[in-house]
Amino acid sequence: MQRNLESSVIVAKFGGTSVADLPALQRCADIVQANPAIRVVVVSAAAGVTNRLVALSKGIAPESERMQVLTEIMDIQHSISKALSPSPDINAQLRDYLSRMAELSAYLSDVGIEASKQDELLALGERCSSMFLAELLRQRGLTARDFNACQVIRTDSHFGSAEARPTRIGMLAKEHLTPLLENYCVVTQGFIGADAADRVTTLGRGGSDLSAALFAEALRAQALQIWTDVDGIYTCDPRQVKSARPISEITFAEAAEMATFGAKILHPATLLPAQRAQVPVFIGCTREPEKAGTWIKNTTKQRPVCRALSVRRGQVLLTARSLNMLHARGFLAELFAILARHRISVDLITTSEVSVALTLDATGSHSSGNKLISQALLDDLAPLCDVEVEEGLALVAIIGHQLSNTPEVASRVFQMIAKKNIRMISQGASPNNLCVLVREDDATDILNTLHQGFLEN
Ligand code: ASP
Ligand code: MG
Repeated sequence: MQRNLESSVIVAKFGGTSVADLPALQRCADIVQANPAIRVVVVSAAAGVTNRLVALSKGIAPESERMQVLTEIMDIQHSISKALSPSPDINAQLRDYLSRMAELSAYLSDVGIEASKQDELLALGERCSSMFLAELLRQRGLTARDFNACQVIRTDSHFGSAEARPTRIGMLAKEHLTPLLENYCVVTQGFIGADAADRVTTLGRGGSDLSAALFAEALRAQALQIWTDVDGIYTCDPRQVKSARPISEITFAEAAEMATFGAKILHPATLLPAQRAQVPVFIGCTREPEKAGTWIKNTTKQRPVCRALSVRRGQVLLTARSLNMLHARGFLAELFAILARHRISVDLITTSEVSVALTLDATGSHSSGNKLISQALLDDLAPLCDVEVEEGLALVAIIGHQLSNTPEVASRVFQMIAKKNIRMISQGASPNNLCVLVREDDATDILNTLHQGFLEN
């Protein structure tokens, strides 16, 4: 039986540092060239470009400052194009992109903020990257082409954090992308898409991984490779635990827990499309592609009780006490309704007879840097309960398998960190994690102790 072309395709994604300049792009091209199964390549904007585009998209007031930021972006793109010496039509395309950038940024600063124009501006960083990498691959003799991701990645109209439409994406990929794969290595943009009215949208910061996973899902790819500046997922952050080591295989469930609990390698939402379509995900280092890297799969050969540790600092614990809670119905519902109104997402929760303690998740909240707990929130809670707020806490998560039904896990944790104060513990909701809330100052010690106890022989 002839093998279906789709299922033999590998989707490879390169992040911002991997496409930062020509030497970096050359390393991407080496990886693509070495593996003919890589037929779809998804790229981020060159490092530093999206941050600057975000600044421009908010409308920079002093004109001199705006010009400064614009010039910095242009310098990054020009230095790539100068080193690449591309064909004249690429230079013409680059001029178009950069002049559109200047136009949009002037509009957003002078006329006013319009969400759709902001996203159109943000998308230009990725557009430059895919154009350059496709040109480089052609210079190396590959039949490569730059493909507009908006033709396939359909989203809703929530500019800035648009939600993808996987079914539509699947259909459009069949129509526009699959026919190209026979003859071309297709280079396309991460992070961007289009709504039903064909307006450009973006998927939220760090969204290129998600784009790559959506392409992999749509094509039922054989694998998704995420090439970045680290050589895989580690048993713990090596900056905090020196003896941390790379993990060769990890399940989707564990990787999602790691992403949720602070490991910054992947955005938690990234894995969903790959997991839905059962596409294994590889994470490797662009600079050292020969290193083993990490595979994320449905099931792994080894299933250790403890696979990894992660930590999330800066946690806030809110304790609500009310005598009304005694035998009352609906207290928690009321409390949660108030938190939801203030757009606060709750993380861990424990309850007692008359009180409930919960930690607040800072990741899903505003990016404005405002404090999570505002006076307005406290005022709304006051009629319901007494509130106490503790800061300076860290959440340490033990990630693995069957944590909630393996004897002695919890007792070992308690023994290992017996001298430290554990402010709260959460176990049992998921078999894949056990969390302890501790003082932020103790977190590094605790990570090292647990790492030694669970992950070093
Ligand atoms: N360039 C976008 C960002 O910096 C998307 C990405 O790199 O994943 O957020
Ligand atoms: Mg990135």
